[in-house]
Formats: sequence, C-alpha cells, structure tokens
Amino acid sequence: MRIFFRNRLERESIIVKAMIRMYCRHFHHSRTGLCKVCSEIDSYSERRLLHCKFGKTKPVCKDCPVHCYAPKQREEMRQIMRWAGPRMLFSHPLYALIHLADSKKHSTITNNKNEPNSKEIQ
Ligand SMILES: [Zn+2]
Repeated sequence: MRIFFRNRLERESIIVKAMIRMYCRHFHHSRTGLCKVCSEIDSYSERRLLHCKFGKTKPVCKDCPVHCYAPKQREEMRQIMRWAGPRMLFSHPLYALIHLADSKKHSTITNNKNEPNSKEIQ
C-alpha cells in the first residue's frame, strides 16, 4: 500500500480527503468528487496542512496545540471529523489504523492528555 511510504503530511492529507469525501457523499449526495462547500473546506485544509509549522512531526489535528483554522472552517471540519471519524474504521480501516499509529507516534507535543476536552473550552 502506497500510503505507508508517504510522509506524515501526505498521509494526513489523504486521510482528511477521504473523510471529507465520505461526509459529502452522505450529506450532500455528491456522486463524484465534492460539492462546492466541501471542495472549499478540502482545499482550505490542504493549505493549512501545507503551512503547518510542525511539518513532518505534526501531531494529529485533534492533539495539536495550535489552532490554525479560522473559526468557521474549524467548526465545519470538526463536524466532518466527528461524523466521519468513527466510520473510518469500517469504510477505510487501513486509514483509521494509520491515523491511530500517527496519533501515538506524534503525540509528544501536547502533554495535557489527562484533561479531556480542555481544548474545546479555550
Ligand atoms: Zn459536500
């Protein structure tokens, strides 16, 4: 599987795209590609990823101490992740595993793991 040989940011980009696609197909009934709204959030997330200051040592987004998304896009993305996240296990089990592995490997940047939802409150 090619995805294993990609670097961290490319893997993340592939996985985020897969989630957006699932979300769009389900809620916006898009058959091929993405609807206008979803392709906007898709290219937005790609730009954010490209400019991520952690580069290849980037933690998974939910563990990241930096909020690089604007509030609107952040909320949209959070909805997408919340819906698609658990479904990844069934529709893209490999991606789900890779994401899990990446979140274990690169979680050292944050150390407030014992405070669930602390970032939601800020
Ligand atoms: Zn859509």
